[in-house]
This record gives sequence, C-alpha cells and structure tokens, in this order.
Amino acid sequence: MQRKVQELIAQKKVFLLDLDGTLYLDETPIGDMSHTLEALREHGKRVVYLTNNSSKTAEEYVRKLSRIGFYREGDLVYTSAMATAEYLRAAYPQKKVYLAATDAVKAEFFENGIEHSEDEGEIAVLADDTTIYFPKFCKLNELIARGAPYVATHPDAVCPAKGVFPPDVGSFIALLEASSGRRPDVICGKPDRIMGDCIRRRLGVRAEEVVMVGDRLHTDIRFGNRNGFSALLVYSGETRPQDLEKSADRPDLILDSLNDIVAYL
Ligand SMILES: [Mg+2]
Repeated sequence: MQRKVQELIAQKKVFLLDLDGTLYLDETPIGDMSHTLEALREHGKRVVYLTNNSSKTAEEYVRKLSRIGFYREGDLVYTSAMATAEYLRAAYPQKKVYLAATDAVKAEFFENGIEHSEDEGEIAVLADDTTIYFPKFCKLNELIARGAPYVATHPDAVCPAKGVFPPDVGSFIALLEASSGRRPDVICGKPDRIMGDCIRRRLGVRAEEVVMVGDRLHTDIRFGNRNGFSALLVYSGETRPQDLEKSADRPDLILDSLNDIVAYL
C-alpha cells in the first residue's frame, strides 16, 4: 500500500488544491498545513490553489492565502472566473458580455480580454456576484429568455461559511431557470472539464501528471475523475466515510487530511 501510494505521488507534478475543508476551515489552517505545502514544494510539486469561488480575484486570493501563511512565490491561484474568461475568449472572440460579478472580478475579466457592457453585452455570464441586485437579474433574464449564450462560472448552490450558508451561483442559476426556463449552456468550474483543460494548457502538463485534492465528492473528486487526473479525497471537510459508499465518484487515494501526504513524499 505504502509503495503504491508513493509511486502514484511520485508521478505527479501538479497538486490542484481545493481550499475550504482541504487546506483550512473558516480560514483556520488544518493542522500544520504551511509545513505540508512546503514539503510538496521541496519535492518539486507545483502548488495550485483551485477554487470555484468566483466572488474574488486571484490577486485577492493571493493576499488572503499569504495572510494565512500558505502562498509562496511560484504557487498559482486559479479560479472558476479565470477559466470562464479563458473559455469566453476562445469561444466568443471580440464579443462583449453582460457579466454579473463584483467590480474587482469584472476588472479581472477585462485584464483577461473580456469586456463587460451594460447595453451591448450579447452573452449572459454569471459569476458569484455578491453585489447582485434586482435589475441585474432582470437584465440576465432578458438576455437568457431571448436565447443569448449563457455561461456560469460554477454550479455550487451555497458558499461554505460560518452559520447559515449564503447563496452561491447554483442558487442564482435556479432562480433564473424559474424565470427564463433555461439553464446555462456551459458551466466552467469544478466538476466540469473546462477548468481542467485550462489548467493543463496553462501549465503544459499531461493529465497523468496532475492530482486533484479536495473534500467534496461531487465537485473535487468528480472533477479529477472527469479530467483524467488522479483524485485524492480528504476527510478534513465535508465528506464522511459512509458518504463514499453511496457515491459514484471514485477517489484514487483517501487521507484523513492532506498533512498525511508528507509520509508518502
Ligand atoms: Mg472544499
């Protein structure tokens, strides 16, 4: 067992790391996670923070992850918003979009070649806009009901948080489905393939060289399975061992927490 796991880990160049439930819980690091991340780097593994959260920019995440003591020069933050911008650039070059997102995330889309326009946007794009208000829903609904291409950053219904979980993009999708009768044509984040393709292209690696580490079966582990990456499930977040029996999502490796990987490096 030990040998098999070591062999699997040795093949991997890129560690895609989910955040909440995998590296920290409510910003409190799980065990000595900074040390674990350092051990991965020392063994030549590329540390990539991969999040479906599209309410923050990569730069905002770099600041947050630096504050917690995780981020180091050479690490990469990749969000579902970045994957969505890359998808839009390839699928709809030169087109303007109507983008529901925070101002900072809108600016990041712009830096990545995607222009938002209130009046001329031809594609409805839904990110986790924590500043969303009724007229924005109306504008999205109008575009979607009229048949415009409709793209969402990720499918999660709620955000992990202390207390009651607030609505996330999946809940906005449900609202717009009730009013327009349509669901997104494309969802870019985990567990779909677009973000996986983006990462592989960006880092120039083959699927076999990548492992996805996460605490959720239906997002992280399914994402690994669908993209041909190895999938490492950790029990430090949402999933309990009994959940695994009922699931079709198959981790290649299971650890109580990512910290346990140090023994296999
Ligand atoms: Mg998680």
